Amino acid sequence: MDNSKYLKLFSDCIPVKGASRSCIYDLGRNTYQLIPNALYELLVTDEGKKISDIIEQHDNHPVIIEYLEFLLTSEFIYLCDKKELKRFPKLTHKYLSPDHITNAILIRDQKSNFDFKTIINQLEELGCKHIQLIITEDINIEILKSLIDHTNKSILQAIDVTIPWKNNDDIQNIIELNKQNKRLKRVYFYNADHNEIINKEELDILILKNSKEDIITNSSPDPSYFRVNMTLFNESLGYNSFFNRKLIIDEKDNIKRTLDQKDTKIFGNITSTKIKEIINDEGFRKYWNVNKDSIKTCKDCEFRHMCVDTRTPIHENQEWHYEKKCSYDPYTNTWTN
Ligand code: SF4
Repeated sequence: MDNSKYLKLFSDCIPVKGASRSCIYDLGRNTYQLIPNALYELLVTDEGKKISDIIEQHDNHPVIIEYLEFLLTSEFIYLCDKKELKRFPKLTHKYLSPDHITNAILIRDQKSNFDFKTIINQLEELGCKHIQLIITEDINIEILKSLIDHTNKSILQAIDVTIPWKNNDDIQNIIELNKQNKRLKRVYFYNADHNEIINKEELDILILKNSKEDIITNSSPDPSYFRVNMTLFNESLGYNSFFNRKLIIDEKDNIKRTLDQKDTKIFGNITSTKIKEIINDEGFRKYWNVNKDSIKTCKDCEFRHMCVDTRTPIHENQEWHYEKKCSYDPYTNTWTN
């Protein structure tokens, strides 16, 4: 390490402080690295300083040299000359999207009346690129295929499907379906007799013992669902990364803003209401701006810009919080399950 050089953090490596430890979000490589809070402090207070000055300021403590070497070999920082420092400005983290709705959850059972094709057309008009289709009853693979076929030629980029588990034939059926429609990215089988994750090129199949409710409602975040990327990071700074620009149509064809059974607010029925008629309704947008930085406990969590959870926040005593505790405790850094 050349001690005459100056410390510069790569602009796509963002340190995020938690209550008991911190995290570097590597938005270029879509990964993260947990770090002690002392290293976070070094990154935010000593960036732009000369390496020799940083070491001296910390009384030549061997841990500081170790930290710097770790940051350098992990390519979170680089060393440059003083005059080069200003040539590498920070990234601006504005979330900008021309889309009115970015993602939709469509819940369907045998009694649902909604016309899938009409909904896809309406969502497409509003810019929606991602849908999650939740099937609450056992359905024939041909019915699932015919639903997904309605997305052919649409602007949709990704379809996730949540469906009850029957047997091993399901796996092959889904792989065949994915060959015909590459938008199918992730399939969750619930109520299975075992847990298994199968990754096939661009398709993830998750066979889970969990109930449907565990997967879709009020479930506490699972670290295997954490995603580190620039869009999610930027969105999470200003918005709730689950609720922002989300639309839900339940099995009774009602348009809703959450998956929470206790949230009885309905914004019309898709058989008679056009989605574009309700997207500016303030009540429909109630949770869009409730970012994790404004929610009790989450605001102290180092995972808050990669964690997307479906729980509905509650506003009480001038503070947002969740009724059900998260399985992660950012004060002790422990998971309970
Ligand atoms: S505390 Fe909040 S941000 Fe952290 S893992 Fe739990 S829900 Fe996510």
